This record gives sequence, structure tokens and C-alpha cells, in this order.
Amino acid sequence: MGTKLEHTNLGGFQQILEQQQVELVHVLRVRDGIAIEKSADPMDEIQYATERDLAIHSADLESNLLRDVRAALRRIRDGTFGTCVECEAAISPKRLAALPWAMRCIECQDAADGDRQERTETLDEILVGA
Ligand SMILES: [Zn+2]
Repeated sequence: MGTKLEHTNLGGFQQILEQQQVELVHVLRVRDGIAIEKSADPMDEIQYATERDLAIHSADLESNLLRDVRAALRRIRDGTFGTCVECEAAISPKRLAALPWAMRCIECQDAADGDRQERTETLDEILVGA
């Protein structure tokens, strides 16, 4: 098939992912520090609340990414790295170079994103109707 990734290549991805994991853990730890920071000054408190909301929002994104990075490292160990979890096609090397933690090929990712959007719209309709 010629779609299997070179072993050396895999080692490179593992290194990138491990480094990414360390960085994300660090960033999340620093963000946790911001999130619990408090001030007695009401004006500062408003400012902090905004920063806290932003920090919590991006911490969400980062913990999602961290989960994906850890899952990718797991897939390197069990030998399924670089294979789409949906259709089992090889994920393009270009996509992996940009997103080493990608677990779906571009087609399945698009489909998954589309699904999510539809689901959100449906949920909105339910909420509006309630
Ligand atoms: Zn796929």
C-alpha cells in the first residue's frame, strides 16, 4: 500500500506530541493560577472576571487539545497513529505535519464538524421552542 508511515517519521511525531503535551500541561497550570486570582478592588474584580472568563474559555480549548495529544501518543504506542478513526484510511502526511494529533482524515473531520453544527442548531431550536 505504501501508506504506512516510516518508523523514523513516527518517532518525530512522538517527540512533537510529547513536547506539545508538556507545554499544554504547563499552560493549563498557569491558567489555573489566573483563574483563582482574586482582588478586593471592585474595578479590578471586573477586570479579573473578564480575564478569568477568557482564561477558562481557552483552558477548555487547551484541555481538549491536550486530550487529543494524549490520544495521539496512545495511537503511536498501539500502532494506529496516522489512520483515520472513522474510515481507517491513512491521514495525509501534510495534515499530520500540521496537526500531529489529528485522529480523522479531512473528509471525516469535515463530516464530524458538520454533524456538530447541525446538532447545535437543533439544540438551539429546542431551546427556542421551550
Ligand atoms: Zn476518514
